[in-house]
Amino acid sequence: MSETRPAFASSADLGEKTISFDEIGKGVYAYTAEGDPNTGVVIGDDSVLVFDAQATPKMAQTVIDRVRAVTDKPIRHVVLSHYHAVRVLGAPAYGASEIICSDAARDMIVERGEEDKASEIGRFPRLFQGAESIRPGLTWPTTTFSEDCSLWLGKREVRLMSLGRGHTAGDIVAWIPDADVSFAGDLVEYGATPYCGDAHFTDWPDTLDNLSGLGSVAMVPGRGAALVGEAMVADGISGTRAFLGDLFEAVKQNAAAGRSLRETFERVHAALKPAYGDWVIFEHCLPFNVSRAYDEANGLDHPRIWTDERDRQMWLELRG
Ligand SMILES: [Zn+2]
Repeated sequence: MSETRPAFASSADLGEKTISFDEIGKGVYAYTAEGDPNTGVVIGDDSVLVFDAQATPKMAQTVIDRVRAVTDKPIRHVVLSHYHAVRVLGAPAYGASEIICSDAARDMIVERGEEDKASEIGRFPRLFQGAESIRPGLTWPTTTFSEDCSLWLGKREVRLMSLGRGHTAGDIVAWIPDADVSFAGDLVEYGATPYCGDAHFTDWPDTLDNLSGLGSVAMVPGRGAALVGEAMVADGISGTRAFLGDLFEAVKQNAAAGRSLRETFERVHAALKPAYGDWVIFEHCLPFNVSRAYDEANGLDHPRIWTDERDRQMWLELRG
């Protein structure tokens, strides 16, 4: 019997996940789904804010249903932590008056939004249920900002902050000062593998330091269970940091030794699998992560654009 080759990315991942909707601070909720993309929700005096929209309007409706079980206030703000399609394309479903992201995230939607959409649907079809409900064209923000800004839900403040480059060049986090809760987007994952295909490995640890400095008592990571309590928050951040450091150091060593991308991938995969192989989407992420780390190790600051075609060529080269 021949050895089975891994199916492309998460194209064979069809198992439904169980959704949780937990109050992790007063009027602050974590929508999580066993490693699928998370959403944060803040209920203010007069309105609701949603942080990360889900991949399609149909998927967004599952968030709306949970929100409607706890409040009938209108959802006025939808915040996008970064430009990835799986976070963004559900946004029109909420009927919000404002869709907000960083200037840098908008720039990336302009530069590579269409390519990213096709790439992400191909990689992970299960997360794009109801893809036909995605509006033609892309989701565009109504409001952008450079460093940070405050949104007011009546008297309740939600502060949006750029803490540095990391998972992408345009990540922001949300901080709810009256609850000491943060929404980290994909800068922090918990029991799920950080996706690094568009990452800035050199900067990401400093960005995590800035995030640690907020002193969160609870946090919604990008994927995985809600982090409740300072110890669990610290665990989520340190686990993410360890993965990034181990991966980038290993890739740098192999690149410096003049090894090819494929040789580098095989060695890094073998080195990381014992510690991280049971994290959700490890096999999916690692080829993309090593490809980007190899580019950065070789001096390429601006991540190359992933297209559906480039995804499959890379997969064939590394895993075929
Ligand atoms: Zn992402």
